[in-house]
Amino acid sequence: MVPPPEEGRFAPGERVGVLPLGALDRLLDYAAPEGGVSPGAFVEVPLGPRRIVGVVWGRGTGEVPAHRLRAIGRVLDAPPLRAPFREFLGRAADYTLTPLPAMVRLATRAPGLTEGPATRHVYRLGPAEPPRMTEARARVLRVLRAHPGLAFTLSELAQAAGVGTSVVRGLVEAGAVEEAEAPRDQPYPPLDLSGSGVALTPDQMLAAASLRIAVEGRAYGTTLLRGVTGSGKTEVYLEAVAETLRQGRQALVLLPEIALTGAFLQRVEARFGAPAAEWHSGITQSERRRLWRQAAEGGASLVVGARSALFLPFRDLGLIVVDEEHDGSYKQEDGVLYNARDMAVLRAATEGAQVILASATPCLETWWNAETGKYARLMLPARVGLAVLPRVTAIDMRLEELARGNWVSPTLAAAVARRLERGEQSLLFLNRRGYAPVTLCRACGHQIGCPHCDARLVEHRFQRRLQCHQCGETQPIPLACPECGAEGRLSPVGPGVERLAEEVASLFPAARTAVLSSDLYGSARSLKEAIEQIAEGAADIVIGTQLVAKGHNFPRLTLAGVVDADLGLYGSDLRAAERTFALLRQVSGRAGRADSPGEALLQTYQPHHPVIEAILRGDDEGFWRAEAEGRRMAGMPPFSRLVALILSSESAQAAMDAATRLAREAEPLRRIGAEVWGPAPAPIARIRGRHRVRLLVRAPRAAPVQAAVAEWIAPVRTGGRDDLRLTVDVDPQSFL
Ligand code: ADP
Ligand code: ZN
Repeated sequence: MVPPPEEGRFAPGERVGVLPLGALDRLLDYAAPEGGVSPGAFVEVPLGPRRIVGVVWGRGTGEVPAHRLRAIGRVLDAPPLRAPFREFLGRAADYTLTPLPAMVRLATRAPGLTEGPATRHVYRLGPAEPPRMTEARARVLRVLRAHPGLAFTLSELAQAAGVGTSVVRGLVEAGAVEEAEAPRDQPYPPLDLSGSGVALTPDQMLAAASLRIAVEGRAYGTTLLRGVTGSGKTEVYLEAVAETLRQGRQALVLLPEIALTGAFLQRVEARFGAPAAEWHSGITQSERRRLWRQAAEGGASLVVGARSALFLPFRDLGLIVVDEEHDGSYKQEDGVLYNARDMAVLRAATEGAQVILASATPCLETWWNAETGKYARLMLPARVGLAVLPRVTAIDMRLEELARGNWVSPTLAAAVARRLERGEQSLLFLNRRGYAPVTLCRACGHQIGCPHCDARLVEHRFQRRLQCHQCGETQPIPLACPECGAEGRLSPVGPGVERLAEEVASLFPAARTAVLSSDLYGSARSLKEAIEQIAEGAADIVIGTQLVAKGHNFPRLTLAGVVDADLGLYGSDLRAAERTFALLRQVSGRAGRADSPGEALLQTYQPHHPVIEAILRGDDEGFWRAEAEGRRMAGMPPFSRLVALILSSESAQAAMDAATRLAREAEPLRRIGAEVWGPAPAPIARIRGRHRVRLLVRAPRAAPVQAAVAEWIAPVRTGGRDDLRLTVDVDPQSFL
């Protein structure tokens, strides 16, 4: 356990605790260098014969005697991590049972932290007239005169003037252009807060006013902003963003999908005259460094990003918006396991900031927190410019006539045909990538599986390959069965979006179809372009995976057909119903966003399943109440706490033995009234050649479960065989 950080500057020679950014999970004592050092500063320190980078975390531990204390070598030119941020990292590490250095590394994922002074050469107008004027030289001077406030780099200036860099250099020698040093990472253009957005409806106005008041309070608070897709949640939270910036604080908007940032940036630019700063895996290294630094120095006022943006070193963060807060992608499922939604709340609590959780279908935990008053709740009831939600109807598949290998019922096909006649768009939703989930040998019954995992290979016909959705293994589609050798007997079983596209093409040969599935696009950019083209009407029929459920706006869409509404109703995990509910609700909400009313059709074999019925009735509250009651009866979250453990090893026996030992020696858990389930082979018992065994801890709601688990697993974490790996997942979402 690392002591909480302290503020104030350390005097030269004073003992400080440095947290190395390497693997070591403890503070090392050093003496503050000449000139002193701030807590949170990035420093280079000697460790044995090496030099390593660390962060001054606070006072030293006193473990090293004074005469053996070595001095900090160098203080790096990077903004120190502020006390509230260090406190957040410490608490996040404790909460997720992650070693602190691993958590701090999430906050230092920017290049150039250890580099020298962060400056670059810039070029401005000089005092002298050049002795010899040429057309090229005149162009350079014209550009500089036209933008007196801008600092150009050599290449920027040459490019803007349409000349070679040697022309600029010549002008510098002649004294007509001046070279100066400027910070390398420029602030982002400020947003213009003087304008106002669209004229809000009375409901929106009320919600915006509450959020503004919350922001003005400059204290922690979380609000659930609930409203169906298109009800204006984004308009409303942009009001809270504007208020935050007016306060001189920073705002962060988290989106579940990179493909959504484009549309969001455009909206920000339309509203505030400049775009937000972007943070996600698609940005360049230099943008990454610039944003990291400007977040710390206050030169980035509004940041939009993926979950990892939560670990930016904001100078004064006043608001975090988590859009589509129920989205599963907020849970980071490898490396450091955390849920960005929960970490947003933790971060806001340490920063005295507000959180807005926006969703049409919040997850049950959030709904419950709002229900019990832990979170405030705002509701946007109606859709703007549209009196009614789409009509949602079930298609009872037991009554439909379908040929084998077909998935679109005559009723659904007729509805699509009507849209084609009227020039409107239809969406067919199927949450399965690829062509077919199973490839079966009709001679011997063998199903082609992944050689490294206990998962079946999925056929991707567009790429002519079989793919493992677990580990990414791909191989060509074989001609003969790998088991019995029979040729030409392998056949696809079950539907995927690619196969659905084939069926649609034969049903509607004249229609333009587009398949929207993450693996069919090489980059975030090409996916974004495809989405924009579809929104502009480039396709009559859109076939999509859950990608289309994430808040894209397709104004011409008036029909959403859910091909397999039963998919996911009976998952092995406790959130199956909730997820299905959210997905189906979002997809049915996709239809008719502009001004023509929409229709949603759900193909199901179980029209009377409670989830399907709640969607048909449009009874969200009814669904959550029933779901909450079910969880209470089962003693599941939010009425208890879960921690999942996976032990993995190349030897199945070793993994099972270690898990059995842990389960037997669970005294720390018993003390807090927690129980351990397992060990059991994980549903996917092998991934990438490693055998996986699961344990699940269930603790009473208020019990200090992290401390107990930390004590319990300490022997495995410290000692143990090299090959044995332990993954701890607090509040698990996935049970595979
Ligand atoms: P949500 O975030 O709930 O899906 P949005 O804020 O994106 O909703 O609003 C959906 C669409 O309706 C957007 O194009 C938005 O600009 C528009 N809109 C929202 N509120 C209003 C309003 N009061 N007046 C006019 N257009 C609005
Ligand atoms: Zn695999």
